[in-house]
Order: sequence, then C-alpha cells, then structure tokens
Amino acid sequence: MLPKCTECGEFRASLSNPCPKCSSPNAHLAKCSGRGRIYSYLVEHWGAPQGYSQAPAIIAVVELEEGPRVMGYVVLPDPDASISVNMPVEAVAQEADHRLPMPRFRPR
Ligand SMILES: [Zn+2]
Repeated sequence: MLPKCTECGEFRASLSNPCPKCSSPNAHLAKCSGRGRIYSYLVEHWGAPQGYSQAPAIIAVVELEEGPRVMGYVVLPDPDASISVNMPVEAVAQEADHRLPMPRFRPR
C-alpha cells in the first residue's frame, strides 16, 4: 500500500508530504505493484534486526514502478548472491510474528 493523491492519482512515499505533482495534501492508501529497482543500498555489518535472518543485513532505497522511492531490507536467495544498483526487486510479505520496521524486498 502506498499513499495515492486523491486529486490527480499520483503515488507518493509519505502521507505527511503534499503531492509532488499537484501539491494537494489529500491522499489515501492504495494498492501498488510492490515491484521496483534498487536505487541505492548499503551493507549493515553491525547487526540485523529481529526477524531478518540474513547477515550482514542489506538496506536499500527501492524506486517503485509507481515512482516513489522507499527504504527496505533486501533478502538475497543465498549469502553469496550479489546485489547491484538497478537490480529488479519485489516486495515480500511480512510474517505476522516478525514485523520489521521497513518492508523486505527480494530479487525478481
Ligand atoms: Zn496530486
């Protein structure tokens, strides 16, 4: 789910910011594809949050197909897999008992 402008339909990353296209403050949450590309990333060597089993953790800025950029964890299929800018990714459903503070993405 992403905030979507009630006036012009543009998606945006945050409900607290006005629409980047028409400046309207009005938005509602709407379903999005969950697909995007790695815009930037970092490898977090100082530990991973509970519910994220991969170490070191990878935190990325993902540019979604709808336009907004969001932060999330990247889960690789195996520890030796590589990650790169522009890699296509998709969101992974969260497990109810292991909620992370940000969405998770995997390569697609
Ligand atoms: Zn708008």
